[in-house]
Amino acid sequence: MKLSEKPGKVVEEQAVQDLKPKAPKRAGSQVPRAARREIIKKSPVKANVEDYASLYASFSWDQAKSELSYFAGGKINAAYNAVDRHLNDGRRNKVALYSVDADNNLQKFTFQDLYLLSNRMGNVLKSLDVEQGDRVFVFLPRVPELYVTTLAIAKVGAIAGPLFSAFGPDALRDRLQDSQAKIIVTTPALKPKLDEVRADLPDLQNVIVVGATHQSLNAAAGELSYQELMDAASDRLECAQMDPEDPLYLLYTSGTTGKPKGVVHVHNDILGHHMTSKWVLDLRDDDIYWCTADPGWVTGTVYGIFGPWSLGASVVTYEGRFDAESWYNLIDRLKVTVWYTAPTALRMLMKAGDEIVYEHSLDSLRHILSVGEPLNPEVVRWGMKVYGLPIHDNWWQTETGMQLIANMPCLAVKPGSMGKPLPGVYASVVDDQGHELPAGQLGRLVVRPGWPAMLRTVWRNPAKYEEYFRIPGWYFSGDNAWKDEEGYFWFVGRADDVINTAGHRVGPFEVESALIEHPAVAEAGVIGKPDKERGEIIKAFVVLHHGVTASAELLEDIKEFTRRQLAAHAYPREIEVKDSLPKTRSGKIMRRLLKAWELGLPTGDISSLEED
Ligand code: ATP
Ligand code: MG
Repeated sequence: MKLSEKPGKVVEEQAVQDLKPKAPKRAGSQVPRAARREIIKKSPVKANVEDYASLYASFSWDQAKSELSYFAGGKINAAYNAVDRHLNDGRRNKVALYSVDADNNLQKFTFQDLYLLSNRMGNVLKSLDVEQGDRVFVFLPRVPELYVTTLAIAKVGAIAGPLFSAFGPDALRDRLQDSQAKIIVTTPALKPKLDEVRADLPDLQNVIVVGATHQSLNAAAGELSYQELMDAASDRLECAQMDPEDPLYLLYTSGTTGKPKGVVHVHNDILGHHMTSKWVLDLRDDDIYWCTADPGWVTGTVYGIFGPWSLGASVVTYEGRFDAESWYNLIDRLKVTVWYTAPTALRMLMKAGDEIVYEHSLDSLRHILSVGEPLNPEVVRWGMKVYGLPIHDNWWQTETGMQLIANMPCLAVKPGSMGKPLPGVYASVVDDQGHELPAGQLGRLVVRPGWPAMLRTVWRNPAKYEEYFRIPGWYFSGDNAWKDEEGYFWFVGRADDVINTAGHRVGPFEVESALIEHPAVAEAGVIGKPDKERGEIIKAFVVLHHGVTASAELLEDIKEFTRRQLAAHAYPREIEVKDSLPKTRSGKIMRRLLKAWELGLPTGDISSLEED
């Protein structure tokens, strides 16, 4: 089927330059925008990869192994690669972690600090009989102990289970029960949520509490003080030499479409983490890199821990919540150069307005990336206007374990496109039988199996795993997309979300993107609503910008506006204004919930719903 949407305009570097901020200097701005423009023009830093096509043609994963450190016999450990090896490559005293707490206190840790601390924690785990393959869960805010513990789990060959600290008791119970977790590490503030479900967790032997003394804990229930254990442990540890196929972490998907799946990843993933951090994040030794994602989401684990550290980059973590002022302050204060975030955050920043951007210098930024949801073209355009940089979209999933399709820095950005498949990755668009479709046709987004970070199983659910490979030779992502003549991939929607209206298939993304181009609309979520005549009609839920009041005229205007942007069948016949949209903890709009509410149906698994 031909698509209604045309490939977006290519944004060439020159055009990007022309779009550099033109806003006048505002009070409080540290550097005039014109000067900033100069900086960008005068120091065009070369990207790690300059020629996509030749790298794509020549690359092999086997050759790339030379960038990693292996033990004898091809054994490997992802944490050794992320930290230990930097003690001997000149980075021993380089700051690996700039950890900013919720009150903006900064702590710095060198690679040597992380090495010693994770060794200690590894010994703590061993003293508690943690063996290779045991599940150890991390239920912590973004504090240094989270990073130390995750590395330590990998170092002893156990399986790390990252959890959002915002999870409630139900979400905890589901994940800890399903995985039969042996140990969990948490804080006194979070422990009450665990206590509520502890009786349902017979396999959970110990609860290690960061920031508590043993007097405040229940020793009979296996509760132990993190600090006291660490003080008693040695900082010498022999890092476990793992088979590349041994599990590294077990992470439940975001739950956007239904019950989260326990996706299992292995130590071999680090090869994919390393190469994609180099190509897509474009990290170099002098970078200060901030990934805003929590490690409870795959982005925060892969590109907040293993990938950037494997390259020896300096990583910024921030314990605080989203808030435009705090985020911009953090970028200015730590001189963040590479910033990896998500469309939902970018839309919220856009909602916060342009003024606040100009009140900060943000001069240090050289590369911005986004993942997790479709990145609306409007957001890319806005990013170029206010940050003076294109936002580089990239596509991947918990299951894929690493970025697979991306706008690498050397590629021209087409706003609305996810970019091109990475070297070593063959992605395609197929019909339901697995036949490849030509450019311009909508179909299933699939990938040839075999990239290093591909999921190895779904925990205790091999049947689910098999579903991803239902047609030999393809991994089915569950997303719909199309590719253009130049090989760029365009996301259309999740297969489950596709709307069938009067015989036309419409993806929610194009409608949502058109809606947020209306000056009154900040966010939009679109669903198909059953309709006698048309099968389904398009219904949109919108959040308006601050200070805009809803009215019948405004809604008509929005309808008219989208009707002009889209094909006649693709505009929303119904629009409802909401204060906020339901989102997962990873910030994704939960359209299935909008639909369930609309139709008065059961809401299904909402353990990953963001509640506040
Ligand atoms: P669940 O599988 O439990 O329903 P989820 O799919 O949201 O949850 P994740 O693995 O966190 O869990 O998200 C992967 C999905 O996010 C992709 O399949 C895709 O739908 C969406 N996504 C990720 N990156 C992009 C992107 N750049 N553009 C469009 N969609 C994206
Ligand atoms: Mg998914």
